[in-house]
Amino acid sequence: MSSQSPPLSFEVFPPNPAVGNEKIMAVLKEMQDLAPHFISVTASNRKFNIEETTVRLADFIYNDLQIPTIAHLPAVYLTKEMVSDTLEALDRVGVHKVLALRGDIVPNMEPKKDFTYATDLIEYIKEQAPHFEIIGACYPEGHPDSLDRVSDIKNLKKKVDAGCSSLVTQLFFDNERFYDFQERCTLAGIEIPIHAGIMPILNRNQALRLLKTCENIHLPRKFKTILDKYEYNPESLRAAGLAYAIDQIVDLVTQDVAGVHLYTMNNSNTAHQIYQATHTFFNK
Ligand code: FAD
Repeated sequence: MSSQSPPLSFEVFPPNPAVGNEKIMAVLKEMQDLAPHFISVTASNRKFNIEETTVRLADFIYNDLQIPTIAHLPAVYLTKEMVSDTLEALDRVGVHKVLALRGDIVPNMEPKKDFTYATDLIEYIKEQAPHFEIIGACYPEGHPDSLDRVSDIKNLKKKVDAGCSSLVTQLFFDNERFYDFQERCTLAGIEIPIHAGIMPILNRNQALRLLKTCENIHLPRKFKTILDKYEYNPESLRAAGLAYAIDQIVDLVTQDVAGVHLYTMNNSNTAHQIYQATHTFFNK
């Protein structure tokens, strides 16, 4: 086994523009001393203008806080022209790393025709802005739309071959499923780093949302028992959810994971607590 330390990175989401960026900027400043390997900023092109939300926040993280930044770019509701405009806006602020996504299909909302899969977007970025580094998303337990795991891995291989330098996973709670996925990737010839996405579940609303939206994600008995037992005990639920995430991370780094990507939910306390408990394992 290698003795190398993996990197720790964070994900944040931009607030509704009507709310403004003050709060998230304060949160990000509090995260700055944890020196994350990178911070990625999500995007919702259905609801908001990406330049006003994702690009603006990415600019702050990269230029004001001097932290390497990845901007998410879901393309199914964008035209080629809109993608080019967003890449130009990112170029202007110096952010040259993009998490290239298809994006979720919303019922009753007709996708634009330019990008059907993330691979189409990656090919377009490679053509239009080859100086951008491209990261892809992956799903250890399979993407919900895929017919089966074999076709899912074949599609992932196409995506990686189109030009991804690394992958970030969907959240998962059963590390064995992640290790199994890593093995399937290796067998399929996918050899780029895979960063494990970890989301600490810290309150009842978050747990309920998770149960509603992530049907295909396996919840181990130990995890379900925490949700059942502490559903109405916020302090204990938070402590147990944090301990569960820390336990997952310790196991992942022990098994030489390429990186851990923390879904912070814009909560700097969570990032600090996870960091306090695990920082000796990570590459600074
Ligand atoms: P794709 O890689 O295109 O895959 C989508 C489906 O199509 C899969 O089932 C795949 O097997 C299949 N497929 C792919 N290529 C082919 C092909 N050539 N032929 C046939 N089938 C194919 N969403 C947002 O809106 N904003 C965000 O900021 C955001 N951030 C995310 C971050 C991470 C780390 C992850 C894991 C997801 C994120 N998402 C985000 C959600 C993501 O947009 C959805 O999961 C979406 O449904 C799939 O996007 P994708 O890029 O993984 O799709």
